[in-house]
Amino acid sequence: MIHEFDAVIVGAGGAGLYAALEASKTAKTAVVSKLYPTRSHTGAAQGGIGAALGNVDEDNPKWHAFDTIKGGDYLVDQQAAKILAEEAVQAVYDLENRGLPFSRTPEGRIDQRRFGGHTRNFGEAPVHRSCYAADRTGNMILQTLYQQCIKNQVHFFDEFQVLELLLEGTRVGGLVVFELATGEVHVFKAKAVLFATGGFGRMYRITSNAHANTGDGPAVVMRAGIPLEDMEFFQFHPTGIKDMGILITEGVRGEGGILLNRDGERFMERYAPTLLDLAPRDMVSRAIMTEIQEGRGMRGDRRIDDYVMLDASHLGREVVERKIPDIADFCKTYLAVDPAEKPMPVQPTAHYAMGGIPTDVDGRVTTAETVYEGLYAAGECACVSVHGANRLGTNSLVDLVVFGRRAGRHIAEYVTGAGQSRIPSDAGEQMRRRIADLKREDGAHPGPVYERMQSTMMENVGVYRDHERMTRGLADIRELREAFKEVRVQDKQSRFNSEVLGILELENLLDLSLVTAASALNRTESRGAHSRVDYTERDDDRWLKHTLAQVEDGEVHIAYKSVDTSIWEPKPRTY
Ligand SMILES: Cc1cc2nc3c(=O)[nH]c(=O)nc-3n(C[C@H](O)[C@H](O)[C@H](O)COP(=O)(O)OP(=O)(O)OC[C@H]3O[C@@H](n4cnc5c(N)ncnc54)[C@H](O)[C@@H]3O)c2cc1C
Repeated sequence: MIHEFDAVIVGAGGAGLYAALEASKTAKTAVVSKLYPTRSHTGAAQGGIGAALGNVDEDNPKWHAFDTIKGGDYLVDQQAAKILAEEAVQAVYDLENRGLPFSRTPEGRIDQRRFGGHTRNFGEAPVHRSCYAADRTGNMILQTLYQQCIKNQVHFFDEFQVLELLLEGTRVGGLVVFELATGEVHVFKAKAVLFATGGFGRMYRITSNAHANTGDGPAVVMRAGIPLEDMEFFQFHPTGIKDMGILITEGVRGEGGILLNRDGERFMERYAPTLLDLAPRDMVSRAIMTEIQEGRGMRGDRRIDDYVMLDASHLGREVVERKIPDIADFCKTYLAVDPAEKPMPVQPTAHYAMGGIPTDVDGRVTTAETVYEGLYAAGECACVSVHGANRLGTNSLVDLVVFGRRAGRHIAEYVTGAGQSRIPSDAGEQMRRRIADLKREDGAHPGPVYERMQSTMMENVGVYRDHERMTRGLADIRELREAFKEVRVQDKQSRFNSEVLGILELENLLDLSLVTAASALNRTESRGAHSRVDYTERDDDRWLKHTLAQVEDGEVHIAYKSVDTSIWEPKPRTY
């Protein structure tokens, strides 16, 4: 079946919904989402959205921009970070006006809490900058934006999974999409397509990410011939629930929670004397791994799955139950620990992709020399780049609303002047054949390939990296890509065949693992979340540049793009 729209938005998380809302002001707009919209991972965001409202402490968007750039270890494009910080303020008020129920100060203003790496006056002390709705901020953003999209008559195609991007040269043509309920392959023609498919933490064994976070957008875009930016930078959040990876928000430390090792020592005093437990995530994750490697983890056995403690019991039951109710619930359910009484066992968990589809500040997909006409990306799958080598907490939700909105506005204007796109007459045929082939009689189950990919990425391309481990990781991924060719489905039916989709998602994760490992091995320095034990220093002379990586015939090709450092000169990072 062929559908025709002015604009098709792929993904119904915060970025996709905001873009759809803006685009639908002029464009006939569809949202295609593999999940029911309010199940998108944005709904899991707990801690909040950063904006320099100054409701609790004095604050200034300039300080927010500076913190973002320094937090990203100077790999951030600085004019983009300035836009992020300045437009964050209005974006939060817009969400409030659209009905988002933020938590309040006693005077009735939007309340704000502290978060890692966010400071007053260029690093002096932590600042209250994160606006929040208890620990359900992302869920509230989704509900608010979804209601507004329905009101604006956006067409929703729920449980429709995009498999292929159709390009005509450097201009967008449309999409090939699989309908879960029927197994039918659809073709969407559109003047503009925006990818907002979120992250890909599922390539790691221990992750805070939902099962659906398989990086379909970046993988599909790369397969259409477009390189991906800064894929070596993957953030590990310091506090996942031990063994499970389920996130314990940084908001717990923002409210005063502290990290302790097996001796009961507040070890962050040794690593970040000013910001302590509220240092940026890359530093706190490394501090935890160092404590573990030096035998001060709770088990003391120096294994990567050892852990430390996060203590919030001194905050009192009233604060725990009012400010972090969902976290308290998770801990009781999964650990039988009540955080108002006892510390929580935590370890770093794969959390956020700084890299992704390269875009400009209007969401247009852009490499060093090419602007792809009618093609956009926003949210976690995109790389603007405002997070550089390490994202600060609360800056992803800002990124979604600021750049989702900007991209949507650009689309609304672009489609009024653009003609309808062209697609090949046999669009979708190749994918139909591919799916039929997955249903062949002989072949292997995908489970072992999935598990081995997650383990090798966790062990070899994790918090600490070196040449030997990354080379091993890369070799494993190449081998797994070969093994993948033998995989097939056991379920041969058409209706609700999630097994077919699971296999295609695994293929996406394998492609992204390959570029992540190859980009990481290529960068011979330590910067932000990319921390090498064999190259321990940041090397601005050689490496102050973005990576652009592309897979062709199974080989990864790497090119570079310059970093915009037009506001602040790169300096060493101390906290
Ligand atoms: C547990 C957790 C807590 C977090 N807390 C915070 C926080 O407090 N503050 C903060 O700033 N950030 C936080 N983050 C990060 C932030 O929530 C995410 O980066 C952000 O929500 C991603 O939003 P998105 O719109 O890009 O994508 P998502 O919300 O992940 O949505 C992706 C959408 O794409 C669709 N999709 C994917 N693939 C396809 C396909 N092939 N075809 C069709 N549709 C597809 C999905 O159906 C979904 O609708 C947190 C992340 C996690 C995991």
